Amino acid sequence: MTHYDIAVIPGDGIGPEVVEAALSVLNECEARYGLKLNYTFYDFSADLYRRTGRKITAADMDEIGQKDAVLFGAMGLPDVRGPEGLELGAQVEMRAHYGLFSSLRPVRLFEGVESPVKAKDIDMLVIRETSEGMFAGLADHHEPSDESASDRMTITRATCEKLFDVAFSQARARRKRGTPGHVTLLHKSNALRSNVLMEKVFDEVAAKSPDVGSAKYYIDAGSMYMVTDPERYDVVVSENIFGDIVSEIAAGLVGGLGVAPSADVSLTHGVFQPSHGSAPDIAGQGVANPAAMILSAAMMLEWLGERRGDDLCTQIAQNIQIAVESALATGPLARDLGGPAGTQEVLDTVVKALPA
Ligand code: NAD
Ligand code: MN
Repeated sequence: MTHYDIAVIPGDGIGPEVVEAALSVLNECEARYGLKLNYTFYDFSADLYRRTGRKITAADMDEIGQKDAVLFGAMGLPDVRGPEGLELGAQVEMRAHYGLFSSLRPVRLFEGVESPVKAKDIDMLVIRETSEGMFAGLADHHEPSDESASDRMTITRATCEKLFDVAFSQARARRKRGTPGHVTLLHKSNALRSNVLMEKVFDEVAAKSPDVGSAKYYIDAGSMYMVTDPERYDVVVSENIFGDIVSEIAAGLVGGLGVAPSADVSLTHGVFQPSHGSAPDIAGQGVANPAAMILSAAMMLEWLGERRGDDLCTQIAQNIQIAVESALATGPLARDLGGPAGTQEVLDTVVKALPA
């Protein structure tokens, strides 16, 4: 029987609520399909830091990194900050520690969900670089000052090559959805030196992948197209902060963060979490939409299945996808999508829709 060790970090706010829902779906999959998951829970959160001063350490991350994958809820509370004034975020530290250079953020307009724009066929994968870019200087020494502060954007050839290889191979893999296979780079090479290098490496990788179409837009115009003509995008790839913003614009086109999953991956490690944060505005009310977290758990099984050549795991990932699609199509929808359902009702609908 397939057996995987999973580190679970529920985190803050709605993190634990949506993680609990995703674990219920996975438990049901274990019972029905013969998958075996072993969980180790880790209590890293802004709340823990506030109460005890304890935060995730390199040793913790080394231990967690021994597991087959990490399932992560959301971490951070706007009023809990470290000495430099930045929020706590184990997800950001894990990206740096494990070199998780690509955050895969699929965005799809599901049947039953209304888009705020006119487009009907929104189905794209936003790939946000997550190890450097505008976050490159997070560990830099910085003198505290009330007069001036700066951050550093650094782009390296090595990360770009890996990132764009992922983008082009994802575009190939997505052809089974009927897409021709296409990658768009969103960048700012008209004004940022780092982005000149990024564009140059993109051109090199694109030239080696003539079977996959490609395009490049400046991030500003590309963001407008995201809203005016999202159907032009298949795989979209960008730098860390641009990718963060654009992936959430894209999520907004398909109903919002409640249906936007993600997978932060390197060639060896994977952290699977919704694109959303801890949503303190709705935490504790039982109304968080668990779909993004459940879809992130499906991405985890898809990744494990592909890496281990485990077809059962791949099939179970698809079954979860099918169940979420069905739950959205039939409703009842969660509050963020304009429906009356709370977390539990959405979860029950998903579990009922799991294929036999
Ligand atoms: P957020 O993603 O938590 O929430 C943005 C908006 O989307 C809110 O209105 C929220 O109610 C809504 N929303 C998010 N997820 C939802 C869900 N599953 N169902 C229904 N509605 C949902 O972003 P924010 O409010 O800007 O940040 C809150 C905290 O989360 C901050 O401390 C921030 O630093 C942190 N954060 C963490 C992560 C992460 O853990 N990866 C990512 C982003 C933000
Ligand atoms: Mn974000």
